[in-house]
Amino acid sequence: MRDVAIIGAGQAGLQLALGLQASGYGVTLVSDRTPEQLLAGRIMSTQALFHDACTTERQQGLNFWEAACPPIEGIALSVPHPELPGQKALAFSARLDRPAYSVDQRLKFAGWLREFQSRGGHVMLENADIQTAERLSSAHDLTLIAAGKGELGQLFERDVERSPYSAPQRHLALAYLKNVAPRPDHSAVSFNLIPGVGEVFLLPGLTVAENGGTQPYENVLIEAVPGGPLDVFAGVSGPQQHLALMKDLLRQFLPWEYGRVQHAELTDAQATLTGRVTPGVRRPVATLPSGREVLGLGDTLVLNDPLTGQGAGSAAKAAAIYLERILWHGDRPFDRAWMTGTFDEYWSYARFVTDWTNALLGPPPPHVLDVLGAAQTRPGVAHAFVNAFNHPPQFFPWLGDPQEAAQFVAQHSVAQSASA
Ligand SMILES: Cc1cc2nc3c(=O)[nH]c(=O)nc-3n(C[C@H](O)[C@H](O)[C@H](O)COP(=O)(O)OP(=O)(O)OC[C@H]3O[C@@H](n4cnc5c(N)ncnc54)[C@H](O)[C@@H]3O)c2cc1C
Repeated sequence: MRDVAIIGAGQAGLQLALGLQASGYGVTLVSDRTPEQLLAGRIMSTQALFHDACTTERQQGLNFWEAACPPIEGIALSVPHPELPGQKALAFSARLDRPAYSVDQRLKFAGWLREFQSRGGHVMLENADIQTAERLSSAHDLTLIAAGKGELGQLFERDVERSPYSAPQRHLALAYLKNVAPRPDHSAVSFNLIPGVGEVFLLPGLTVAENGGTQPYENVLIEAVPGGPLDVFAGVSGPQQHLALMKDLLRQFLPWEYGRVQHAELTDAQATLTGRVTPGVRRPVATLPSGREVLGLGDTLVLNDPLTGQGAGSAAKAAAIYLERILWHGDRPFDRAWMTGTFDEYWSYARFVTDWTNALLGPPPPHVLDVLGAAQTRPGVAHAFVNAFNHPPQFFPWLGDPQEAAQFVAQHSVAQSASA
């Protein structure tokens, strides 16, 4: 039996810990919070997981909340008209072939942590530092850092070539709401793109309820271009002001969404969040002062803006790749070559997520606007665009190449109009 240490009990760390534990590995997991603290804590994400990422959880039998969670059945894109208030300049929607799900990470991480403990897993409750990493790496065959956006990630050198941004490109404001009116037709990630101003997302999910159970809710995430008219949450004094400000912005910019949220309330006292993310990629292996090496995982290595809703799904996919490679490696040493190869396998997928997300942070080039325009009248194009959220390599090569974009439209064109 081999021993593995994982620092960080989030999407990637917990999923990998549970997978290794199920295969008979000795796993030490470092968590900075107890399940009770997680459940009573602040919201962290909108955490929509598309089908392939959900499959990695299902394969490990970890989809505990799927039956209770409202499915996300499609994606709807809207661009408000710059001159006609209340009108849309562009709109289309399509169904996902298989639904996505958003399970509040407070619920998921607390539940998975309890599961790990109840199966005999060893949890160290602490805010780990380099000394912790040293201690763990001296006593384990492999030590992984899955600390998300936590400071410990700075152990890993920033990969400048893969990190075009050195500052946050959006300022984020999130709230979990109840009493939100459903969309017509089908549930969806409602993706509103306001050129030069930012993006606003609404999507359903499952969160904690006051009685200790669960309840459905709607995520509302505002991604404000810094200094723009949506970037107004800096001085907000409390959750109710945060909610009022959100409603006011929706009324002003996206009246069709305001109609859905005007009677909404926060799900709980911790249901608001503001923040910002500097996107970036780090080198996969860090050398500790002792000379021992540790491997990064998830957001610690590949951190993207939440704009495309991919971070948790990518962390799940990374955990699945790492799990398979650890099991397959058997008794051989987890040396630098193995660590680099493991990350490279993940990066061969994740680079598309990073390129796509970084591209969306800038203004869309004409050929991308052509594809979005075509999606309004050609359901096949809308369907292909929407379903690529499940597997972002499908946005390529057309996203970066006008000729390929024209071919993408031709290939997916059918002669009906897409529902708006
Ligand atoms: C506003 C917002 C919306 C988002 N929406 C989506 C979405 O719709 N879909 C999607 O796929 N992704 C989304 N994401 C991204 C997603 O939440 C993350 O990418 C994902 O959780 C990353 O998983 P991870 O395991 O790498 O890190 P995390 O899930 O962040 O887990 C890391 C854990 O390590 C802990 N930790 C940190 N430092 C230490 C330490 N020193 N010692 C011990 N523990 C430590 C942290 O507290 C945390 O519990 C969103 C993010 C944000 C901010």
